Amino acid sequence: MKAFINIDYTYDFVADAGALTCGEPGQAIEGKIVELTKEFIANGDYVVFAIDVHDQGDEYHPETKLFPPHNLRGTAGRDLYGVLQEVYEENKQLENVAYMDKTRYSAFAGTDLEIKLRERGITEVHLVGVCTDICVLHTAVDAYNKGFKIVVYKDAVASFNLAGHEWALGHFEQSLGATVK
Ligand code: ZN
Repeated sequence: MKAFINIDYTYDFVADAGALTCGEPGQAIEGKIVELTKEFIANGDYVVFAIDVHDQGDEYHPETKLFPPHNLRGTAGRDLYGVLQEVYEENKQLENVAYMDKTRYSAFAGTDLEIKLRERGITEVHLVGVCTDICVLHTAVDAYNKGFKIVVYKDAVASFNLAGHEWALGHFEQSLGATVK
């Protein structure tokens, strides 16, 4: 059994005017993310939207010192970017489509993602989204440590940092045993 995990493909992380944007590289993967998302939904695989959330002025959150405010709860900055928002809206009532808030880079940190995967007998996670070298990377590292097989779609992940993006693709393959395709 497979899960398809959509990581942080939101307005703030992708749009030109987003609060913490990947910019052009993020926008360039929209078509591929949408295509894969529709494909996995149609196949009946478990499709998870794991989306960063922050509260304004949260002085205890470690990212407050690292990044400008982004993906604030209840703001349009947290909407999925472009057509992906429509794909989610059209399919969110399906049993195999789930949305979960996450507050750290990894989709496993402080969420019930692992429980949801285990109870469905899922052994393989397929990852897309942004940023390749931050939230996708940390999610992949946790998946590796928990014994999941990993597939990363190189045309459906992106970063504002090209060197970081390329390094992470190599790390997925060489250190996490992932299939990068
Ligand atoms: Zn964040």
